[in-house]
Amino acid sequence: MKRIGKQPRRYKFFFQNPYRDVRFSYCPKCEGKTKLRKVPLVIHLEPQQPVVLNKSCRYCPACDLLIAHQDEVEEQLAYLCSQRQPDLTGNEYLIMGTMDRADWQRSCEQPMKPAEMLDCLYVFKQVLKFEPNKWIKLNVEWKAVD
Ligand SMILES: [Zn+2]
Repeated sequence: MKRIGKQPRRYKFFFQNPYRDVRFSYCPKCEGKTKLRKVPLVIHLEPQQPVVLNKSCRYCPACDLLIAHQDEVEEQLAYLCSQRQPDLTGNEYLIMGTMDRADWQRSCEQPMKPAEMLDCLYVFKQVLKFEPNKWIKLNVEWKAVD
């Protein structure tokens, strides 16, 4: 991913979970228990619109891995578009990183310009993908893929 934003990177790993029926209460990387964490996610919405969603994510402290559920992100994104810019509904998007809660609150009070938003952005260090490796009884073991 191209380096943007002035901030040092936060969250070593990010995973956008495409599996509707899996919520990752256990980490796909280390199998430890994950926590719920509400994080302002900065999303690039095509063609040119950065938006922020304050989103409940799964977080593994051991791996520093943040997991956002794709279906929930898309639902919130669709809602946001319907409220503000219906013409952007269903456009391609990319979850770029996070921003500080204080910056997010500031952006809620006074909408930020895209450049300002990018200044507050912490880009994910590495984006991971996982797919099911094998099923062990009712549990699935995950493997990272490129
Ligand atoms: Zn982990």
